[in-house]
Amino acid sequence: MYNMKEYLKKIPHAIKRLFVLVKEVSRETKMPAYLVGGFPRDLILGAMDWDLDITVEGDGVKFAEVLAGKLGAALIKHERFRTATVILDHRVKVDIATTRKEIYPFSASLPLVSPGSLREDLFRRDFTINAMAFGLSESMDWELIDIFGGKDDLAAGKIRVLHDLSFKDDPTRILRAVRFKQRYNFKIEPKTLCLLKEAVNSGLLEKVNPHRTRDELILMLKERNPSAQLKQLSALGALSFISDKLRPGKLTYDLFKSVHKEIIWFMQNFPFHRQFEAWLIYFAALLRPLALPEIKKVARRLGLSKKEEQKIVSCRKINQRLIRRLKNRHITPAEIFGLLKPLSYETVILLRSVSHDNAFRKHIADFLKIYNGVRLCISGDDLFRLGVLPGPRYQKILNKVLAARLNGKVKSRQEELALIGRILMHKNGEEKCPDMSALKKR
Ligand code: ATP
Repeated sequence: MYNMKEYLKKIPHAIKRLFVLVKEVSRETKMPAYLVGGFPRDLILGAMDWDLDITVEGDGVKFAEVLAGKLGAALIKHERFRTATVILDHRVKVDIATTRKEIYPFSASLPLVSPGSLREDLFRRDFTINAMAFGLSESMDWELIDIFGGKDDLAAGKIRVLHDLSFKDDPTRILRAVRFKQRYNFKIEPKTLCLLKEAVNSGLLEKVNPHRTRDELILMLKERNPSAQLKQLSALGALSFISDKLRPGKLTYDLFKSVHKEIIWFMQNFPFHRQFEAWLIYFAALLRPLALPEIKKVARRLGLSKKEEQKIVSCRKINQRLIRRLKNRHITPAEIFGLLKPLSYETVILLRSVSHDNAFRKHIADFLKIYNGVRLCISGDDLFRLGVLPGPRYQKILNKVLAARLNGKVKSRQEELALIGRILMHKNGEEKCPDMSALKKR
């Protein structure tokens, strides 16, 4: 458990300075300020978390303006929600809000929000462990405000709602309860579990705006062990908000295990590759048993982007034919390149997860390690100089030269140019694929 003095010694200079300035702004504006949400929870658990939520009794946006001015930091205002975000640097952002109360006119609706006391602001939160605050003003000097017993629940490892209507008001808390339970290896307190099951069985998750459940689902899939998260949801019968046809079994969970290993392998071997979305691979693995039209329906209902939908669809299209071709020991580098280049990294990682065959896995690794980085010495400029008129023919010719380069048939700029010469000289002006038979026979 935490020791505030020790903790404050360890925090980075930029954050220490921020806290000093918050205290200063609080004094000057006469608005008490509190650190709330995940930060107090993680601080008490001894973890560092630089997503800071500050809530202010008074006017959060005004407070943020003064603070950003003192810090010389960027400020994004969300006037409609009376909140603002101060961006300290790429690692640290501070959300500043005004203390408020929320009333849910009906189950799963958006709340009606109005200014409220600190107590009301803490009471509107999901679980006791997320409903604590540290007073940042001079007079409070890091005093812990723990009205609902969050510190004891943290010590006992319990997820507990603040009142009986909590899941009815906001069923996304079902997903949050599972997420925090798995993350901290906590237990959902018995009464809370009863209320949660009641909410699941009444189909409340299906009543929420799907964009909100999607956001919470993505957060679950970004946790350290997405498989455990989904297993728990499945055990609770809480996956129907994605699709009522989902029945993940051993095959899916085995696939998750392989996906986990492949993601680690990919990150260790290609740390400089462009970003990929690990959560999307798990989601695609979860949806794989569903038919393609159902997958598209899920993606659209959850409001995934076109790009995300395409990636998930392409993961679903991984078929035995593709797997068989990649298992073939005699496949050429150019053929491997041709099969894998059009696929996203997410699809390639999922693909590598579906078979333990050595040749298959090596072919995919070779694509990522070698073939994907192969560049030609020649370019369109050379074709232009050789008198080829710009057009789709350029790409065709360059593809042929690339295939020859991948297969080791040309190794230098000179040889690439010579190959272009042969392609252009070919009768009828039709380009012919370079002869790769020698390589295939090897
Ligand atoms: P994480 O470590 O995953 O970022 P967090 O607790 O910081 O966890 P956020 O989603 O950033 O999670 O939310 C910040 C705080 O806002 C929470 O700690 C909680 O107090 C409150 N909160 C967030 N979502 C809800 C919700 N659906 N219902 C009630 N309170 C919520």
